[in-house]
Amino acid sequence: MSEQVGVAILGSTGSIGVSTLDVLRHHTDRFRVVALTANRDVENLFQQCLTHKPLFAAMADPRAAERLQDRLRIDGRPVEVLAGMAGLEQVAALPEVDHVMAAIVGAAGLLPTLAAAQAGKRILLANKEALVMAGPLFMAAVRQGGAELLPIDSEHNAIFQCLPSGFVTRGLDGAGVRRILLTGSGGPFRLAPLDQLPDATPEQACAHPNWRMGRKISVDSATMMNKGLEVIEARWLFDARPERIEVVVHPQSVIHSMVEYDDGSVLAQMGNPDMRIPIAHALAWPRRISSGTAFLDFSQLARLEFQTPDFDRFPCLRLARAALLQGGTAPAILNAANEVAVQAFLERQLRFTDIAATVEHALTRVSGHPVDALATIFEDDTLARSAASEWIATRAAGGVR
Ligand code: NAD
Ligand code: MG
Repeated sequence: MSEQVGVAILGSTGSIGVSTLDVLRHHTDRFRVVALTANRDVENLFQQCLTHKPLFAAMADPRAAERLQDRLRIDGRPVEVLAGMAGLEQVAALPEVDHVMAAIVGAAGLLPTLAAAQAGKRILLANKEALVMAGPLFMAAVRQGGAELLPIDSEHNAIFQCLPSGFVTRGLDGAGVRRILLTGSGGPFRLAPLDQLPDATPEQACAHPNWRMGRKISVDSATMMNKGLEVIEARWLFDARPERIEVVVHPQSVIHSMVEYDDGSVLAQMGNPDMRIPIAHALAWPRRISSGTAFLDFSQLARLEFQTPDFDRFPCLRLARAALLQGGTAPAILNAANEVAVQAFLERQLRFTDIAATVEHALTRVSGHPVDALATIFEDDTLARSAASEWIATRAAGGVR
């Protein structure tokens, strides 16, 4: 029993959470599910508790936590239920937990993921928004807490696999790395006529050609803000200078990213587009375990294409890079405005092409600050959300949709 690795999943009811539980289900000899968490989806978390028998369950919404507790008690299940952000942070730092899967979507994931860093856990990081918001503070917390940070985002996991093991101490220059090549499929609107984009619906935006994901990241993939957030994520994860990170559009999503070395070698990581691969990799690293994914069939691969990204079609990519270069809280402002705009788009209150306009407006309205403390980040996050909401209200009042 004591040989088992204890795992907590922050955001277990989401797309990454469910894929993680699927991998763990096949390796119960190695891993033990210690804690599961969700926002307010009582039914799914209850079912997951029945199947995976965690010691703890936490819900961000306190009322939902009460309902979950009632259901578990009636069913006679010995699961301790925690509530609110404090409950999520507590879960991330439990002594029984070795690995924390950070799979909450958006800014809500920052505090519990930081708690895991401070408690010195192995963090399996899917929640890229945490790193976008608080890159330098987050990386400092990882170092100070003695935590281990393994990327789950398929691109960053691919890059991690293509880098030599000593890159953290040697740095990218010391490891002879010239460029990091982040691949992205270009999403569902890569080829759509530009004049149709303003009328794109949430259903169309969420119909990703290669990946099944949560709705927020699906919309981010359609605007390519996702790739922009990933450039910022790569900057912090790999301590990479922004000019060393390049985006390559690769519609087939078979190469998950590449590292180019000074001698002209390019290492790529390939595999079917299935998040269980990076999840299994990060759970077992430095060992390898099965992920349950189909193996790549080269006889079925017709061709691999590569293109340079179109910044006119995908202005969010340009905005994200500008925020990275501006530094300070600019990426947090970008992220917060984007979260508000994506939500408004999903609720049919904002046109697809106005997502970028909303983010641009917030970046102009809210002047950034140096990232000296978490409080500064949260202040600018709040200001950006207000600026975005006001802008969206004026667009809606103008009778957009
Ligand atoms: P999802 O929407 O499917 O799931 C989100 C999870 O977070 C759910 O369990 C939900 O209950 C929880 N949650 C939502 N709001 C919360 C809040 N306010 N407080 C606490 N918990 C909350 O999202 P997803 O697609 O699984 O993505 C999760 C993260 O992983 C995102 O940051 C995303 O960018 C990243 N990611 C996802 C994929 C993918 O294939 N889905 C790939 C790469 C990276
Ligand atoms: Mg990704």
